[in-house]
Amino acid sequence: MKIPFSPPYIDDDVIREVNDSLLSGWITTGPKVALLEEELKEFTKSKGVVCVNSWTSGAILMLKWLHLEKGDEVIVPAYTYCATAMAVIDAGAKPIMVDINDDLTIDVEKIKEAITPRTKAIIPVDIAGVPSQYEKIKEIITSKQVVEMFSPSNETQRMLNRIMLISDSAHSLGAIANNRSVAQIVDVCILSLHAVKNITSAEGGAICLNLPEPFNNENERKHLKILSLNGQTKDAFTKNQAGGWRYDVVECGLKINLPDVNAAIALSQLRKYDYLLKERKRVYDRYSSLLSKYSWAKLPYQDTDSVKSSYHLYPLRLNPITEKQRDELIEYLSKKEIATNVHYIPMPLLTLFKNMGYNMENYPKAYNTYCREISLPIYPQLKDEEIDYIVNNLVQGYNKVREENI
Ligand SMILES: *Cc1c(COP(=O)(O)O)cnc(C)c1O
Repeated sequence: MKIPFSPPYIDDDVIREVNDSLLSGWITTGPKVALLEEELKEFTKSKGVVCVNSWTSGAILMLKWLHLEKGDEVIVPAYTYCATAMAVIDAGAKPIMVDINDDLTIDVEKIKEAITPRTKAIIPVDIAGVPSQYEKIKEIITSKQVVEMFSPSNETQRMLNRIMLISDSAHSLGAIANNRSVAQIVDVCILSLHAVKNITSAEGGAICLNLPEPFNNENERKHLKILSLNGQTKDAFTKNQAGGWRYDVVECGLKINLPDVNAAIALSQLRKYDYLLKERKRVYDRYSSLLSKYSWAKLPYQDTDSVKSSYHLYPLRLNPITEKQRDELIEYLSKKEIATNVHYIPMPLLTLFKNMGYNMENYPKAYNTYCREISLPIYPQLKDEEIDYIVNNLVQGYNKVREENI
């Protein structure tokens, strides 16, 4: 049995939607993107959506929109995909890394300690699809003491008048906290539509706006659309209409628009999100029920009445195990043609960040999690007998690597 880690969900409806775009005479940003933005807005109940070509480019755009300067700081968890911090660096500011909680989300107490007068934004990550503790974080950034410390250096920051809360929701499209989507809680929620995510456009991302007063979300959405297209006042679709040739360039933007042919894939998938989520939950729950009898298997996050994951990953932790044994277990499973993964190699272990002076010793929980974590395959197409096969091999592999190393 050959089990890939995260193949995309491509059915006849996806193919039909992509074909429709290919045969329409228009393949880059146009009607399909406009539809996807509308449907994502409705799905996330946000106040406006701008599709872009990745999570990373969307985050850079939002931080550019906030006009970050050298010396500005953005707080991020140490335990995430590198893009979370890379976007901050690309926008000209400094990522301040903090440690995580047992549920893999950012430690709110550590955020408190990390805030300085230079803190301009916080980017919590909804790892595996579990919403971060946004209500607590909002309490901190709107508290009198922290608001008084905030020192805006331009008009956008003055309008916001506090630290901006941006979610890295690359995993959490469809997650719920207290009957709300993440996009309804934070200032800006950024989704990834990368090939391995719950909904994909092969490569892509979406910025979901929920900016507080006095911002006008529709005006900011239009502004961001322009910024995502080189600062050009008309997109190619509009310019392509007879007589529509004249345009202006008003600002130095980025070129990060999402093509229609990509949007078509996500559009078709989004329309059956409920089914896709139900199937992910089936896989998640089957793993948990099969693994619950092993004391060495620390099961990942379980939903509560108010907080519901989008089941993007199944981040199992093993105990006892060493990092070396975990690596051997991954090797054992790969010989059985089962692809697994580790989410994540904490950023301070990566050369770029090490060279910048980040030190893994400052993030003990992130390091401990990394050493014993193994992510099992989870996607709607995974059959029950495949799940059983994965678990059987995992149990055998665990026993083997433990015996050999005792
Ligand atoms: C995938 C991912 C990203 C980056 O998404 P792209 O669309 O590839 O730029 C950022 N953060 C997390 C947590 C991710 O998993």
